[in-house]
Amino acid sequence: MPSDLYCPDCGAEYAAGPDEPWRCECGHPLELEGRPLPDGDPLPLSRIDTSEGLWTFFEFLPVEKRVTLGEGFTPVLEVDDWNAEFKLEYVFPTGSFKDRGAATVLSRALELGVETVLEDSSGNAGAAIATYAALAGLEAEIYVPADVTQSKLMTIQRAGARPIRVEGTREAVALECVGDVDAGNGWYASHVWNPAFHAGTMTFAFEIAAQRGWTVPDAVVVPAGHGTLALGAYRGFSRLEEVGIVDEVPRLLCAQAAGYAPVVEKLGGETVGEGENELADGVQIHRPSRGRQVADAIEDTGGEAVALGPDPVEIELDRLHRNGFYVEPTAGLAPAALRWFREEGVLTEDDDVVVPLTGSGMKTL
Ligand SMILES: [Zn+2]
Repeated sequence: MPSDLYCPDCGAEYAAGPDEPWRCECGHPLELEGRPLPDGDPLPLSRIDTSEGLWTFFEFLPVEKRVTLGEGFTPVLEVDDWNAEFKLEYVFPTGSFKDRGAATVLSRALELGVETVLEDSSGNAGAAIATYAALAGLEAEIYVPADVTQSKLMTIQRAGARPIRVEGTREAVALECVGDVDAGNGWYASHVWNPAFHAGTMTFAFEIAAQRGWTVPDAVVVPAGHGTLALGAYRGFSRLEEVGIVDEVPRLLCAQAAGYAPVVEKLGGETVGEGENELADGVQIHRPSRGRQVADAIEDTGGEAVALGPDPVEIELDRLHRNGFYVEPTAGLAPAALRWFREEGVLTEDDDVVVPLTGSGMKTL
């Protein structure tokens, strides 16, 4: 049976189904009713069969069907120049961590008997949803800004999804998509609103813990636009702590783009560097739907958030590419923030830190 939905804000409940609402009547994002969490000691990594990728952690995932390309268990590398570990989240079938959520969200779509999925995105999420919808055999319509880059448009089209260009801001694109969802034209496979997407991004945390012998680092530094990875990390580590697999939840440190930093503003964090950050185009979100949840998660772990202008990201991007990390500009944000957190003493050199490199440079060509 597919998991039902509930609203953590007002307590309303909704039955699972192809016509289920995409948000609560009160306006709050919905969550999936959890299944009982697994108990017992986890196996050491050497005894885990990781050939099923992120589905290794199926007991924690509230979906039963599997739409999979073998995604997950991205490499973790020690990088001396950064005195940290990078988790290579661009090593995914469509080149970004968004495949974690696309795999679980399309699995749920299949489970519910959905025929058409709708999504709005300017980049990686659109490519991920289009690809996994093709794999699931479902129709997909991806709403994109009219000025979307050719390479991103082609990724969507080649997967057989229909791109729908919308004039105006990123918010206008989302509104158009939501209007069509409300008109009954499809199920909203949103990487922002759909709770099944966030179930998938939790596996980022499960993998880190497993790859470190079921321990957690002192901190993770992640980029945040809508905060899908930040929330996934927080929820994933929290689940592991809840069942006693790890002792604590690492500090969640977030990096946003200057000019698009509502979470930093909410937390009273700093902005570093001059000008709006147009370079980190994957995180240019003014009003994240789960912004409050992201800010709460950061506070709960004793974390912080910083907004960076384009210059530190540009410098970091060069450094990454020179070291063999062929990532997109947005992926330079978190390593640049790591540097700043260290300079400011938010993190010490002794702190054990994991930083995801979130998206491949291939799609930016
Ligand atoms: Zn509600």
